[in-house]
Parts: sequence; C-alpha cells; structure tokens
Amino acid sequence: MSGVTLTIDGSAWRDHLRAMLSANPGLVPVAKGNGYGFGLARLAEESATLGVDCIAVGVAAEVAQVSDAYEGDIVVLTPWRQGDALAHQITSNPRVITTVSRLADLELITADGSRSRVVVEVQTSMRRHGIPVAELPRVADLLDKISFAGWVIHLPHAETGRLAEAQSLARAANAVRSAPIWFSHIKHADAHRITEELGVELKLRIGTQLWLGAPTTRTVTATVIDVHKINKGDKVGYWQRRVPHNGWLVIVAGGTANGIAMEAPTSAKTPRARLVSVATGGLAALGRALSPYTIAGKKRWFAEPPHMQSSLILLPAGVTPPELGDEIPVEVRLTTAVVDQTLIN
Ligand SMILES: *Cc1c(COP(=O)(O)O)cnc(C)c1O
Repeated sequence: MSGVTLTIDGSAWRDHLRAMLSANPGLVPVAKGNGYGFGLARLAEESATLGVDCIAVGVAAEVAQVSDAYEGDIVVLTPWRQGDALAHQITSNPRVITTVSRLADLELITADGSRSRVVVEVQTSMRRHGIPVAELPRVADLLDKISFAGWVIHLPHAETGRLAEAQSLARAANAVRSAPIWFSHIKHADAHRITEELGVELKLRIGTQLWLGAPTTRTVTATVIDVHKINKGDKVGYWQRRVPHNGWLVIVAGGTANGIAMEAPTSAKTPRARLVSVATGGLAALGRALSPYTIAGKKRWFAEPPHMQSSLILLPAGVTPPELGDEIPVEVRLTTAVVDQTLIN
C-alpha cells in the first residue's frame, strides 16, 4: 500500500514498554489524541498486554475508542464539565474515573447520589486546571459522597522548584484526605519519595516517554509515487514556480493531511539568514523549505508547500532518483502525524 507508513520493531518496542513499566511502578499509560501516532486502539491493546490496571485518555469521547481492546479502568484527564455531551455517560460508567477540577463541579457530581469514581485535581503553578490549595478543606465533606480515587497533581515541564511544589501540594491534599496521588510530568523517583513519605499509592501518567521513548524501534517512510525529469526553469506544481536546477521532481506520499511539514524548517526566516543562504547558493533564499523527506542520504527541498496527500520534492541532477514504489524516510512528529498504515513486525 502506498502512503505514509509507521513500521515498528514489535519485540524491541515491547521490550521498551515493559522496561518502562518496571522502572515506573504505578505507571498509568496515557492514550489520547492521535494515539501518539499509533492510534488509540493500538495503545489500548498494548496496555492490555502490559497488564496495567488503569489507562488515561484525554477526553470523554476517547473512552469509547479504548474500551473494547482494554478491560481495566480508564481515567479521563480533561476535567468534567456539566454541559459536555458525555458528562453523564462518564460519571455513570463504573470503569471510568472522572477528573474534577472545581468545587462547584464536585457539588454537581455528588448531588445525584450516584457515587461516581472521581479524582480531584489540585491547582499547580501550571494554572491550567485544579482547585486551589486554600480551598481544599472545603472538598473534604464532598469526598464522602463519591467514590474518591485520589488527588491529581499535574506539574509544569520547568524543573526549577518542581519537586518542592509537588511535595507541598501533596502534603496539603493528603492532610485533607489520605488517598492515592496521580502525578503527571515528574520523575518517578521524586513522585515515589513523596508518596512513600505520605504512605499513599502512587499513580504516574506517562505518554510520550512510554510510547515514543525508544526512537530506534520505529521508522516512518513514504512511498515514491512518481518521478519526472526536470530542467532548470521548468514550471511545476500548483504555483507554477520555476525549478532552480536540472534534475528530478519526485512525487512522494504524505501531505498536510498526514501532518507533514507542520513545522517545516524554512531555515531562512530572517533577512540575514536569507543573505547567508544566497551567498551559499541555498534554496532557502528562494523562499523554499527543506522537506522532512530524505532521499539518497539527505533531506531534500520542497518544490512547493505540501499538498493534502502528496508532496513535490526537488532532486538535483547527478543524484540517482528513487524508483516508483520505493519507501523513503520521512521525519514526522508523531504527536501530530496521521500515518496511513502501521506495521508491527
Ligand atoms: C497528556 C498528559 C499526560 C502525558 O503527557 P506526556 O508528556 O505525553 O507523557 C499526563 N498528564 C496529563 C494531565 C496530560 O494531559
């Protein structure tokens, strides 16, 4: 099949997944969004194989995408809001643990007496979601009316002060009610130290480092769909730009729909960079962007911005062009990419 293909060395990848699990007791695999390039169903299957008792999804709508392949608990990371289409479905599903980040929402959830499974998010310096520490004592009575699964502490990536913050928030929450703490974005050793001191269970939500942490276990390639000989000055593409040299126009699979060149380095953003580029004869001087496709060992230039499902790549004369049907390496960011197929060998 032609397209953009993610190929995984299954046994090496699964070795890495198991190593992550044993290095991070309490690991809660995060399967959200585009499934880190693998897709949510695949991550649900791998989580089942790993044998974890809980996974995390980003939003309520993703619960349905993981709940067939995976039988354990599912925590929804995005906080519950009353008006959401699936708000009732998730609070009434016995497999789902709902994140609550506001006192008013906790009151709403407890009001119907259904004893939903809930984790309560504590506000951190992220200031994304969460109940401020000063308000936590007001949560105490409400916790008796739900099935309380613990506290959520989601920290910023910046490391300065992170451990101290985590420690003080965890202590404050634990003083209100001793319960498991669900951390995000903190080293396991640090999280472990904190929960050990408090004598509570540790849960650590990890996505990127788990699924994408062993880059040598995968390749992403794109199929060569067409190759045309071109001469300097020929017009090509939607924009009918003239090609800068003799050579080849290589049409490869993958475009904006695949997330190709979401952040293509134009490499000549400043006037100075442009001048340098002119001086060195670089194509960036012509406003062209370096593509994420590698042909004959080098990243090659786009002839024009990527199309929806294919891209036009310039190859200078003297380089042997690829054959139709060849697979060439393409660099994608897997948290934004949509691949056409995934092969696990
Ligand atoms: C996405 C997310 C994670 C996982 O983040 P990674 O950086 O992919 O490990 C953890 N916690 C929360 C709250 C998230 O939204």
